[in-house]
Amino acid sequence: MSDCLFCKIIAGEIKGTIVHQDNDVVAIEDINPQAPLHVLIIPRQHIATINDLTPANDALVGSMFRAAAALARQHGYADRGYRTVFNCNSEAGQSVFHIHLHLLAGRPMLWPPG
Ligand code: AMP
Ligand code: ZN
Repeated sequence: MSDCLFCKIIAGEIKGTIVHQDNDVVAIEDINPQAPLHVLIIPRQHIATINDLTPANDALVGSMFRAAAALARQHGYADRGYRTVFNCNSEAGQSVFHIHLHLLAGRPMLWPPG
């Protein structure tokens, strides 16, 4: 999608710090990290919100979670623990309308989340 920040990062038109990429997803460091490890796992396909997912996207969502788990393990957080978050629409604080899975690790996480 032409006017989408994450599509532009995936296309290389805007710089992002890429920490993983494969056929399905690109993972970048969050520009405003909320934990020592804060990575965004972004599908190459533009999907605005998780409300827009269809059964055809099931494998893609699985790939996003497996990429998050692999990155968490790679950084030494698999056993210690980490959090994965999808924000959807305004009350959840979604600010970029191309779905992305937040991976946060390296500090204790509060529950319930804010
Ligand atoms: P959300 O609020 O769930 O839509 O998350 C969007 C995330 O994208 C926020 O955590 C931002 O800090 C992050 N972000 C915004 N612009 C950039 C950028 N240019 N590069 C990397 N992360 C970004
Ligand atoms: Zn996009």
